[in-house]
Amino acid sequence: MGLIVQKFGGTSVGDPERIRAVAERVVRSRAGGENRVAVVVSAMAGETDALVALARELGGESPDPREYDALVSTGEQKTIALLSMALQSLGVPACSFTGAQMGMRTDASHTRARIESLDAHAIRRVLDQGAVAVLAGFQGTDDDGNITTLGRGGSDTSAVAVAAALEADVCEIYTDVDGVYTTDPRVVPAARKLERVSFDEMLEMASLGAKVLQTRSVKFAKRYAVPLHVRSSFHDGEGTWVVPEEEVMERLVVSGVTFNTKEAKIRVRGVKDQPGVAASLFTPLSQAEIVVDMIIQNIGDDGSTDLTFTVPRDDYERALELARRAAADIGVEAVEGDEAIAKVSIVGLGMKDHAGVASRMFRVLAGEGINIQLISTSEIKVSVVIEEKYAELAVRALHAAFVEAGAAEPLEES
Ligand code: ADP
Ligand code: ASP
Ligand code: MG
Repeated sequence: MGLIVQKFGGTSVGDPERIRAVAERVVRSRAGGENRVAVVVSAMAGETDALVALARELGGESPDPREYDALVSTGEQKTIALLSMALQSLGVPACSFTGAQMGMRTDASHTRARIESLDAHAIRRVLDQGAVAVLAGFQGTDDDGNITTLGRGGSDTSAVAVAAALEADVCEIYTDVDGVYTTDPRVVPAARKLERVSFDEMLEMASLGAKVLQTRSVKFAKRYAVPLHVRSSFHDGEGTWVVPEEEVMERLVVSGVTFNTKEAKIRVRGVKDQPGVAASLFTPLSQAEIVVDMIIQNIGDDGSTDLTFTVPRDDYERALELARRAAADIGVEAVEGDEAIAKVSIVGLGMKDHAGVASRMFRVLAGEGINIQLISTSEIKVSVVIEEKYAELAVRALHAAFVEAGAAEPLEES
């Protein structure tokens, strides 16, 4: 007997017909009781966006976080009940669970809570009775019983946490594409599906903009060695397996091209080149829980230097204000901001053994007349910040050069 965790995203449960199709799929996976199946679902497509819009309508730009979570978590509550009914009408026993009912404990950071523990007793009991456990993704409760949510796309993380707690044989992520692609297939039709991708590549791709999996779900899967299979909810074909590095046969130099247009850039000019300046600038940001991504500091030559960093676009106004206040205390020339940026990245395990990947990336962008504003690298990725309006052009050009051209072109510089 196997134990399978399946997660269905918003489009996959987008209307009653699709929920019925999901129920049929679950029944097939259950194989007449041969396998035990726990299903994690998202809100129906568009539902969470609509709830967020409602929250803003009555609660303003930053609604009360506790009430925001109480509201946006209702999307998933609808889906669990509907899917359970659909399963029951096919003659299969099913029982729905909200985050609280399934024992999903999180910290108290509303709107982006982190999972602390999952007491899977209640889920196990239902599975042991031969029923399907239908679980609300994206939500949990904190120690005081407040409803919390895990951040947009958080149902992926719920599913992996459930799979880890149940020690499931596999965690299947059913979505509206056939698997993980070399880039977003909606932007580049020539994108191709990867058969396997390592946890680390997937982690980079997710955190650099490939929203097919929430970044934290991949971290969780890696940490608890949960086999992840990303696949289509519309047909039965194999999708993409996310696996440990040693199980990836093909070490592609570039396995993914990603882009993120949800960041903004802040530049602080004429900062004194002396100890403590960066700390004065960034401490207020961290105290305000603003996550700073790239930080670039130029080497100063006249006792002053430039510092540029990026922050989530949602936090841009706050970050700019805090940077201006800190700058006034330490005395700088100017603080400038720019929201119209995009971060475009290439990711691949094979970069570890190939020289010249970054410089080739820069040549490709130069060939399109795209100016690079910031650069950052790690062992398996190169990211650049460019003007937002060139994001898709850059992604297409990089995909053509690194993925479509494949290994045919020499990588080393001549
Ligand atoms: P779900 O509602 O099932 O969670 P999401 O919309 O969160 O689905 O994620 C699936 C979407 O991710 C796809 O429709 C696709 O446009 C986008 N995507 C971005 N990058 C990639 C990629 N590299 N591979 C596959 N899909 C990607
Ligand atoms: N419904 C939530 C969202 O739209 C969670 C999810 O779909 O994963 O972000
Ligand atoms: Mg998603």
